Parts: sequence; C-alpha cells; structure tokens
Amino acid sequence: MALIVQKYGGTSVGSVERISAVARRVIDTVKAGNSVVVVVSAMGKTTDSLVALAKQISANPSRREMDMLLSTGEQVSIALLSMALQEMGQPAISLTGAQVGILTEAEHTRARILQIPSDRLEHQLQQGKVVVVAGFQGISSTKDLEITTLGRGGSDTTAVALAAALKADCCEIYTDVPGILTADPRIIPDAQLMIDITSDEMLELASLGAKVLHPRAVEIARNYGVTLVVRSSWTDEPGTKVISPAPLARPLEGLELVHAVDAVEFDPDQGKVALLRVPDRPGVAARMFGEIGRQNLNVDLIIQSIHEGNSNDIAFTVSKNSLNQAEAVATAIASTLRTHFDPASDEAEVMVERKVAKVSIAGAGMIGRPGVAAQMFAALADAGINIEMISTSEVKVSCVIGAEDGEKAVAVLCDTFKVSSSPVQGATKATHPALLEGLKPVSGVALDRNLARIAIRQIPDRPGTAAKVFGILAAKNISVDTIIQSQRCHIHNGTPTRDIAFTVAQGDAKEAQTVLAPLVSELGCSEIVVDEQIAKVSVVGAGMVNQPGVAARMFAAIAEQQINIQMIATSEIKVSCVVHQDQGDIALKAVHAAFGLGSGQKIEVPA
Ligand code: ADP
Ligand code: ASP
Ligand code: MG
Repeated sequence: MALIVQKYGGTSVGSVERISAVARRVIDTVKAGNSVVVVVSAMGKTTDSLVALAKQISANPSRREMDMLLSTGEQVSIALLSMALQEMGQPAISLTGAQVGILTEAEHTRARILQIPSDRLEHQLQQGKVVVVAGFQGISSTKDLEITTLGRGGSDTTAVALAAALKADCCEIYTDVPGILTADPRIIPDAQLMIDITSDEMLELASLGAKVLHPRAVEIARNYGVTLVVRSSWTDEPGTKVISPAPLARPLEGLELVHAVDAVEFDPDQGKVALLRVPDRPGVAARMFGEIGRQNLNVDLIIQSIHEGNSNDIAFTVSKNSLNQAEAVATAIASTLRTHFDPASDEAEVMVERKVAKVSIAGAGMIGRPGVAAQMFAALADAGINIEMISTSEVKVSCVIGAEDGEKAVAVLCDTFKVSSSPVQGATKATHPALLEGLKPVSGVALDRNLARIAIRQIPDRPGTAAKVFGILAAKNISVDTIIQSQRCHIHNGTPTRDIAFTVAQGDAKEAQTVLAPLVSELGCSEIVVDEQIAKVSVVGAGMVNQPGVAARMFAAIAEQQINIQMIATSEIKVSCVVHQDQGDIALKAVHAAFGLGSGQKIEVPA
C-alpha cells in the first residue's frame, strides 16, 4: 500500500461542486489501495479577499495579525472537504497546521518549516482515515502556539514537506492547468505541456515568475528526493514529473533550514570581454551575440548594465582558449555599432581581461535567503578580493574575480560555508555530455512583472561595497536578484566608482531605498534610483549549457519586436532580460515562439 500526499489549490476547491469533485478523486485514490493525506488551499480567491479586508483597516497591519487572519481561509476548506468525504462514506478528519504540530520559525508571514512530527498523522491514517491538512500554516513553537504562515503560495510547500516527513511514495500537486507548461497559458495560450522537468530548471522557472509551484516546495523535493508530480484537477492526464537528483542524506529536523551551501565551485580558466559605451538601442545585444554564436563560441556569463546617458556596457566571459576569437569578434562588431545604431554616439571600446576566474557557491538551501549571497560577498571582501562581475540564480551565486585571487577565494568560501569539497566548475558538463545531447536548449519561459529595479550610481569600486549593500538588504530579509555592476569606471569625489543595479520584489522597493539611503553620504555615492516600470523575461533550460547561441536567439527575438533590453543577466541554465513593463508580454511571446515552444493548441484555464 502506498502513501500519497495530494494537494489541491484554490481554484480546485473554489466551490462546493469542486470540493465534491476533489472528494471523489481522493476516494478513488483510497479505493486503489492507498493511504492519502490531502493538503488544501483556501477556496478560490479567499486569501486575496482577506488581504484586501486587512488593507481597509490598516495600510501596514501587524504581521502576527495577518497570519491570524489568512490562516482562516484554509480552515474553511479543510472542514468542508472532510465533510464531503464523510458524506460519501469515507472516514476523514481535518487538522490545522497547529494540530498536526507543523513547527516553523517565528517569522510571521514568511516562516520556514522546521519540523513535522508524523505521529498524529500516522495515528489517523492507521485508523483508515483520510487526513485533510490546512496548507500554508504552522506554529512557531509548542509553547507559544503562535500561528505562522509560509508566504503566498505556500500550500505547495506544506504538501511537499509533509511528503518528506512521512516518507510518502509520491506528492501530487493538483491545479487548474494540465501540469507545468512552457509558459503561463494566461499569457501564451498555446503553451506546451512538459512531460518532465529537472528540479533545477523548475527552481529557476518558479522563482522567475511561474507560480505553478512554490519554489520552496521544489527545494524540499530536491533536498529530500520527494517524487513530485503536477497534474490537472479536472482530468486524468499524467501531468508533469519534477525530477530530482539522488538526495544527500539529510536530517528531517530543520527541514527548510538545511545547509545553505553544498559546494564551492571554481573555474580558473576564463577571460572577460567588456564593451563599453554601446548604444542603448534595440538589437545591439542581438548583433553582438549573434556573431559570437555564429563563430560557435560558448559564452558563459553575460551581463548588460543599465544605461548611462544614451549608452550602456555589455560584458561576458568565455573559456580562456576562446578569448582571442571572442575579442576579435567584439572589436569587429564594436566598430560597426555607431553607424548601425546611433551615429551621434561615441565609438564603443573593447576591454579584455585575460586572466579571470569564476568562483561560485551552490546549494538549494540558499533560496529566499538573501543573507547567503551577502555572506559570500563579505567573505571575499574580508580577504581583500574585488568582485568584477556577479551572477545570481536561485541555487547559485557566482563572482568573477582576478585569476590571482582564485585559490584564496576558494579557501575562504569553503571555510565560511563549512564545505570541504570544491569540484572544478564544468566537470559535470565534461563528464556527462551524453546527458545533454538531444536536450532542447530552452525548456520554458517566464515573466515577472512584480519587480522593481534599484540602481546605486557611482558607488566606490573597492572590496566590500557589494558586501555592504547586500548585507544591509539581507538584514531586512529583502531578496535580491539580477545584480549587475557597470564595467565603466568613473572618478567621483576622487575615487574610482561604478554603478550597481539589481532587482527586488516591488513590495520591498520602498524599504530597500530607505535602508540604503544612508549609503549615499557614507560612501559618497551620487544617488539611488528606483524604477518600477520593468518586467523581467527569462528563458530556462538545462540544455543551454554548452549550446552556443541561445542568448543570441533570445536577444534577436526581442530586437525584432523593436524592444530595448535594459539589463541582461545570465546563469548557467537561464538568461534574463529586463525590458519596459508594457513590453513584457510581447517580449515573452516572441521568445516563446523563437524557441519553437508553441503547441498550436490552446490551453483553457478555468476561471
Ligand atoms: P493553485 O491555486 O492550484 O496553487 P496557482 O494559481 O498558484 O494555482 O498556480 C497555477 C497557475 O500558474 C496557472 O493557472 C497558470 O496561470 C500559472 N502559471 C504560470 N506559469 C506557468 C507554467 N509555466 N506552467 C503552468 N502554469 C503556470
Ligand atoms: N491560500 C494561500 C495563498 O493564496 C496559500 C496557497 O494557496 O498556496 O497564497
Ligand atoms: Mg499555488
């Protein structure tokens, strides 16, 4: 007999009829010989309505009372589903997070799960009952019994955490779409269903805006090897399987607080090419990387900083043996940019650094924990190492530094994060090329309209500034991504300076600006600028590793729509471009089509 955890989202339990349909599906699973634990969300848009109610009373309600309020939504649906099951003759019991004893941190509105005792659940299951558990909630300690919630969308996380704690055979997430698709079908109706996806790709997609799964749910599935499937509540189709690598042995205590960093990786053999003062016009990146792709050069990291006047900087890294060729391409293209895009602009300048190294920290435990990246920057700063480029993904932070600092950097990072191994970056690519063959370069695309960009102009270029900025934000629990430093150096107040820009959730932008404001006088920066009119378009795919030209195809698709790219950031399995908010949908559609991801068939999403 198998133990299955099933989770049903808000739309799936949005009405009495839908709750009855869920009950029938649960009973079918029991009849097939399984024990079932069900996790449900609040009905329909209940949580949104509760948030709106609170906002009518207070612009800034206490986080404790928000948890008290929002946790009621799930209590309604567990009771109703339990009644429906009983009405159909199936013994069932509903339990709140507190009743199960789901223990979390004492962080209201964004608590992480620490531990789930299995005894109460097992006791009920042994009596032949279906146990219906409220998603998205827990308690901060068995003494205070403070109700906490896990953050919006957190019921997925409850379900996967329960599956890990109970060592369930499978966790099934039932929702209003047929599974994980190549894009959000509400924006791209002919998005295609994926049969499977790796947990690394799903982590990226989830955190880049695909809300079909909560990123923390994917993290737990990956860390504990939970079999995870996303399926439709309305059909019997198999849906999408999320594939995780064989997990390391991990204790179940501190479930969501596992070791943040699993490995320090190091690539000593890179070179950097920077193009300074390229025109800030649609098509520039496409032209540059189109040619690089045609020459079959494999680019690793790409960043494009925000504009300064009417131009910006693009920098990328390649392996050392491709550097001469990359430099030649960059020089040739740079000389054509002015005539091609903006005769009034300055001539672009190419700057090559022959000896750079990339050090990375990797691990699924760093998701949503801004302190981890800040700790990395601080460790490098304490060792006197200057960071030239930063690339962040959900499970990795990479810094490009001078090659002479490489070994020292690896040593301090291993020491800081208490990891002993430092596998050479790229080893996985080299040793498992077969795994990559036949993989599509891009599995899916995502759009995030909920971001704001913050730029700090003219911040001193010396070790410790990144650590300072991101340390301040981490202390306020503000997560940051797409961090970019300009390549151009200016002398401001007698000190060499650069611009640094990054994106945060729109809801965090005001606070970020406020807590960073003192830096302007302390470090002598010129200003902090916030822009909320942005959207981030991303492509994700494990197959883009070692396939030249993926970024170029994306840039070309965006350029064809005459859309200007404001920022570019890449990691190994994703490329993200920031564009104007009004152009996000068009850019997403163009990119989806450019990688041939459309199915030609329309996906209907029920209201
Ligand atoms: P639930 O209430 O079941 O948790 P959510 O609304 O949280 O459902 O997540 C499902 C929604 O996620 C879909 O209706 C769809 O609009 C959106 N979505 C965004 N990106 C994707 C994607 N790549 N694949 C599937 N759905 C996606
Ligand atoms: N009801 C909560 C929300 O709307 C949790 C969830 O549905 O996952 O965010
Ligand atoms: Mg959801």
